[in-house]
Amino acid sequence: MKAVFLDRDGVINVDKGYVHRVEDFEFYPNVFEALKKLQDAGFKLFIVTNQSGIAVGYYTEEDFIKLTEYMLKEFEKEGINIEKVYYCPHHENGIVPKYSFKCDCRKPESGMIRQAIEDFGVDPKRSFLIGDKENDILAAHKENVKAILVKTGQGVKYIDNTTADYIAEDILDAVENFILMF
Ligand SMILES: [Mg+2]
Ligand SMILES: [Zn+2]
Repeated sequence: MKAVFLDRDGVINVDKGYVHRVEDFEFYPNVFEALKKLQDAGFKLFIVTNQSGIAVGYYTEEDFIKLTEYMLKEFEKEGINIEKVYYCPHHENGIVPKYSFKCDCRKPESGMIRQAIEDFGVDPKRSFLIGDKENDILAAHKENVKAILVKTGQGVKYIDNTTADYIAEDILDAVENFILMF
C-alpha cells in the first residue's frame, strides 16, 4: 500500500496556534481537491499530528477527538476517506501527568508514522509526507518516507534550511507537482 502522511495545522487547516475548537478550524480551500486527487491515484491518507496542547493543559483529549470527528465528517461530505488520524498528546514539560513524558511519537520522532506503516502495511518507499515544519520532514525521513515541505502555515520559516525532498507552495501544489508526477 502507498500512502500520504499529512501534518494537520498549516497543511490541512490554517495554523492559528493550538487549534482545538470547531469554530477555529479553517480548512485551506484547495485541500479537498488535493486529497481527492491522491485518493483517486490510489494513495491511502493518514494524518499525523502533534497535539502537545493536551499535555500542557490547553485543551483535553476529548476536545481533540471532537474536533477530529468534525474534520472527518467534512472530508466525508467531499468523498474523502482518512484511513486513520494518529496524534501525539505528549510533551515532556507538560502539566497533565498522564501525558507528560518524553515519548517516541512526538515529531521529529517517527512513532506515529512507524505505527501506520505497521498497522496498515504501508510501503514507505512509495509514500510521502506533507508538512510545514522541519520536524515533520525529519520524522518522515526516519522511516524512509519522502517529505514535502509546504510554504503554508510555518513553512516559509524553514525553506532555506530544510532536508525536505521537495518544497511546494501548498498542499495542492505538492500533490500535483511532486506526488502525482511520479
Ligand atoms: Mg504543522
Ligand atoms: Zn507522543
